[in-house]
Amino acid sequence: MVSQSAIEDFRTQLRGVLFVREDAEYNMAREVWNRLVDRHPRLIVRCAGPADVASAVRFAREHQLEVAVRGGGHHFAGHAVCDDGLVIDLSPMKGIRIDPIKHRAYAQPGLTWADFDHETQAWALACTGPIVSMTGLPGFTLGGGIGWLHRKCGLACDNLLSADVVTADGNLLRADADNNPDLLWALRGGGGNYGVVTLMEYQLHPIGPQVLAGLVYFPLDQFAALVDFYRAYIADAPDELIACLFLRRAPPHPAIPEDSQGQPVVAVGFCYCGAIAEGEPWAKRLREFREPLACLIRPIPYAEWQRSLDPRWGNGFYNDWRSHYLNDLTPDCVDIFAQFIERLRSPWSDVKIFHLGGAVSRIPEEATAFGNRKARFAVVVQARWEHSEDTAENLAWACDLLKSLTPFATGGVYSNFIGAEEGDRVPSAYGTVNYQRLREIKTRLDPTNFFRLNANIPPFTPNG
Ligand SMILES: Cc1cc2nc3c(=O)[nH]c(=O)nc-3n(C[C@H](O)[C@H](O)[C@H](O)COP(=O)(O)OP(=O)(O)OC[C@H]3O[C@@H](n4cnc5c(N)ncnc54)[C@H](O)[C@@H]3O)c2cc1C
Repeated sequence: MVSQSAIEDFRTQLRGVLFVREDAEYNMAREVWNRLVDRHPRLIVRCAGPADVASAVRFAREHQLEVAVRGGGHHFAGHAVCDDGLVIDLSPMKGIRIDPIKHRAYAQPGLTWADFDHETQAWALACTGPIVSMTGLPGFTLGGGIGWLHRKCGLACDNLLSADVVTADGNLLRADADNNPDLLWALRGGGGNYGVVTLMEYQLHPIGPQVLAGLVYFPLDQFAALVDFYRAYIADAPDELIACLFLRRAPPHPAIPEDSQGQPVVAVGFCYCGAIAEGEPWAKRLREFREPLACLIRPIPYAEWQRSLDPRWGNGFYNDWRSHYLNDLTPDCVDIFAQFIERLRSPWSDVKIFHLGGAVSRIPEEATAFGNRKARFAVVVQARWEHSEDTAENLAWACDLLKSLTPFATGGVYSNFIGAEEGDRVPSAYGTVNYQRLREIKTRLDPTNFFRLNANIPPFTPNG
């Protein structure tokens, strides 16, 4: 129990704002992206800067409060909010500075990728963000970071050059190549296990401002033929090209024939981030594979492309995600995907098959904490629905699909796609060697597992 006077004293140590349950803003402040997560923290600190973060960590430690750290609040497992404890909310920390000479961004953790792209694209620079723009920077980056640019630029975490971190004892550390290099290694994929990151330095890359990108829709009955074509197509794809597969019901898009809207489809998410003219032959090959229902590929500003899927993915929906890596899209896998998409009732759900390789797979497995670099595809089953009475049906759809795919999967998983109750899968996000090193660093920096609301890497206990 925290006394009122302790709370009032804590308030005086902050430059930011402290919410308690009685505050009018409290309910809005505890909301996260996934409506399935409905938790009631005791306190929410909206931090104005690193000093507030350090005060919050020390206060929580002193009063034995569980801590949730909130970047964008978009992890579907809802790690960014807790019951009864204290939420360290970084959303007001939106500072960013670009060094256009060194191609660096110095970014605070309250930024979304839309904010980041807005500033970096002003210099025609970018770093790998997700395939939407509304998620937070820190959770995405610390967990890995797959998007439209990872084959060319590496994962977001590969581009993390340094970070300022408030550790479990409430101290501030710099992690870079010269200072605490082990911590920097762990932050490149090890998630929120090591402290609260208050500043991230990113390597930027010349991108755009225009890329050649868009979705190409085919009816689901072309899926098997498309996969045959696609395996050869991506085999010799340059790093500039990413072609993901999205399986879902066709949206009511004006370019899609009316009688196909609502029907099961497969869409190729195409993005060529190099010179437009060099991407054209790749777009042409895809368009000419078969007559598509709609081909929306066009030159488009990179930041606009990043935002283009946002309208489907706003707050207020129930969500459950399940994930595997696959090395091949075998006919058995194709059948399973097709059966489950035929069965799918929610127009909001989909399955995404991310196309990996390129720069991601060229970085040695042990150079960063992030594991499974050689996997060819990351699959994420995204069940999403509007009404609570549909929860059981949607959860079953996602779980059954994951189970059916398991015999074909690599056994690894991506930490940004691990559910709250899938803690036993965390080691497989890293592989044996990286996981052992992550645990050693955790034991050194956070021996009591103070930061445990995450894809948790527990410290060693005296018994191992
Ligand atoms: C609509 C949507 C689309 C997505 N698309 C992609 C995609 O294309 N590619 C991809 O790789 N992922 C994607 N994701 C997953 C995304 O990477 C994760 O949800 C990620 O956690 C979002 O970051 P966040 O800051 O919003 O997370 P939060 O929910 O705020 O936090 C997630 C985890 O990170 C920790 N954390 C947050 N901030 C900090 C910090 N400053 N310091 C230390 N730990 C911190 C939290 O404690 C928590 O454990 C998508 C998610 C959504 C909702």
